[in-house]
Amino acid sequence: MKYITFCERDSARPRIGAISEECAIDLEIAAAGKWPAAFPSSLLELIQAGPDCWKRMRDLAAESLASKPTGATRALDSIRWCAPIPRSTKNIFCLGLNYMAHLKESSAARGREARIPQVPVFFTKSPTSVNGPFDPVPWDPQVTQQVDYEAELGVIIGAGGINIPRSEASRHIFGYTIINDVSARDVQFAHLQWFKGKSLDGFCPMGPAIVTADEFGDPQAKRISLRVNGEQRQNATTADMIFPVDTIIEWLSKGMTIEPGDIIATGTPEGVGLGRTPPEYLNDGDVVEAEVEGIGMLRNRIQAC
Ligand code: MG
Repeated sequence: MKYITFCERDSARPRIGAISEECAIDLEIAAAGKWPAAFPSSLLELIQAGPDCWKRMRDLAAESLASKPTGATRALDSIRWCAPIPRSTKNIFCLGLNYMAHLKESSAARGREARIPQVPVFFTKSPTSVNGPFDPVPWDPQVTQQVDYEAELGVIIGAGGINIPRSEASRHIFGYTIINDVSARDVQFAHLQWFKGKSLDGFCPMGPAIVTADEFGDPQAKRISLRVNGEQRQNATTADMIFPVDTIIEWLSKGMTIEPGDIIATGTPEGVGLGRTPPEYLNDGDVVEAEVEGIGMLRNRIQAC
């Protein structure tokens, strides 16, 4: 199933939806009179409610997408798309240098030897950086002169746990999304620790949907790509991750509890602006499209402010 968070054009209240190629369904309206308890107010609440609620929602969504009930069906271009989890409960977990070719380009850009990490390079992005899948990315030239893009596969945790072995990891995944790990390179490197340069407001476009794990299939066999103003900059496969998703979950959960609704950005492949010769950063008005096979596409315009 593909779940979204959206608003009606005339309202700021986020709603839960399911989508097909043809339409979106407002699941709360579709559930009227059929839901046994309080309807989840967000996808985060749905994820936190656990497997029985997931199954009930999937059945409702499948039935509604097939029958297209009049009051609950929306045209895909009539709604305002939000990030599926507009406000995460904690920072977004991220991996740096998780594709070999990107590790090489990043190291070369900084005049360093490419050293393959023996364990995942973790950092985080602030929850206030989360942005909608089609919303502008605000750029304050007083803060950064080096705005860069990073297309990434995002993992949404469904079942929490600690010390999760690789062999069990897939059972802890609710679904997948796309993240553009927008990065202020000058800020990122000036502060030594990457957190600040990765966490500016609006620097984490996410969505457009969460695709449930059962529908998405093998997370290590997906095309991942990115275009700037229509020009292809990144084009790779998730098979090239140094640490695949199950291994990331094993490492992340070592001695540290992960929880339902936690979000992991799994790293970006080669082709970032930093790695170009000379480096080429984003400018006011540039349109960035990040795509992951089976999920869809983010399209965000850089907007100086
Ligand atoms: Mg990244």
